[in-house]
Amino acid sequence: MNTSRLVEFSEEDLAELDEVACAAEQITPALGAMEVENVRNQARAGAIAERVARRQSASVRSQEMVYRSVAAELAGVTFTTDRSMQVQINQAVEWVECYPATLSAWEAGRITRGHATAVLRCGTVLPRDARAEFDAAAAELCVGQSAGRVKDRLDHLAQELHPRTLAERHAKAREERRVSVTPLRDGMSELVATLPTLLAEGISDRLNEQATSIIDVRNTPAVGDGTDAGADDDADTEAEADCRTRDQIRADGTLGMIRAKVQVVVPALALLGKDDDPANDTSTADLVGSAPIDPATARALAGAVATWERLVVHPVSGQVLCTDSYRRTASMARFLKARDRHCRFPGCRRPAIRCELDHTFDFALGGPTDIRNLCHLCQRHHSMKQFTSWGVRQLGGGILEWTSPTGRVYIDHPPAQLVRFMPSGGGAPPPDQGGGGAPPPDPAPF
Ligand SMILES: [Zn+2]
Repeated sequence: MNTSRLVEFSEEDLAELDEVACAAEQITPALGAMEVENVRNQARAGAIAERVARRQSASVRSQEMVYRSVAAELAGVTFTTDRSMQVQINQAVEWVECYPATLSAWEAGRITRGHATAVLRCGTVLPRDARAEFDAAAAELCVGQSAGRVKDRLDHLAQELHPRTLAERHAKAREERRVSVTPLRDGMSELVATLPTLLAEGISDRLNEQATSIIDVRNTPAVGDGTDAGADDDADTEAEADCRTRDQIRADGTLGMIRAKVQVVVPALALLGKDDDPANDTSTADLVGSAPIDPATARALAGAVATWERLVVHPVSGQVLCTDSYRRTASMARFLKARDRHCRFPGCRRPAIRCELDHTFDFALGGPTDIRNLCHLCQRHHSMKQFTSWGVRQLGGGILEWTSPTGRVYIDHPPAQLVRFMPSGGGAPPPDQGGGGAPPPDPAPF
């Protein structure tokens, strides 16, 4: 045994590791074959949708309804959302139609999903008739390389095979500009803007300048302050209290521009600030449709936003107690917003404030305007209910029963109100006890 080696495997370890490696060698192509079978099946769904869409009226809307309905059918049996399934189906159709060589290599286990996805992504810059040549070369390029390593080479290959200039392509790429928000952990989110480089650099530069001037002011001693050292003694001034990093200032630079429409569910006692002791602070406000936010931010929002909608929830059970409105229709809408929180199509998470209130049993056919006949649907799923053979009925208690065109049934429950807050010491009574349905006293001074 060579004692200079840091790690030693026993003969048994090596034998078993070899077994595991052999198994992996067999699993990889089997997995690839299964994945490609799934891709081909999804592409078939795409073909059905295309066939049915051809038989519909020429309106974009009715065509789109066919695709949504088919995606929802497949989403139901695979525990995903119809939006995500529609993306998967589109991708599958593209793989099957434009990248047969890549698909064969994947099916044979010579490359993986990672490679095939990279080929698809890099190939999107190419017009359809240039993709066959790209596909053949790309599949060969991928064999024996890790997917991560091959991406740059695939990009270059696509550029080489492209029949149009960069300027022409930039004009096209500009159409893809967009902004998206991805929730992260600990009350943070990532805001991603995909912009023309010039504009993105301009924004970055502006934030930099802003940060530089704030840091300059911060580092300049106050007038009449004799010496640099004097600034250290003056620890109470605002400038001194600002010890943000350049990155933090840049990130804060966007806050002044935010005029967002948000709905936040806040436990009544959290609004009152009763839980200011961080040790006892187990309360969390909930940014509807997104993520929990901390109570201090919730209170700041409550003070700052003119269109704040107050929903008072029971501090222990989290049940919605009532809203701040006496007007019946408005309070009904608020109740439903609190009950549904998001679109009620199975799997959909579009926040209620971006949804429409839908009469489950059509208003025009005598359906009552009653909380037992109303629910939130996003525009996408509202039109699906209206224009496709997806059906829905209310079972009471806000529970919806959806039936797919093939007869599959999905029950959608209203989301559970989050139990986030336990009053510390004394057990303050919930604000509605004995109130006889009247709204509770104003929970916060705004
Ligand atoms: Zn929806």
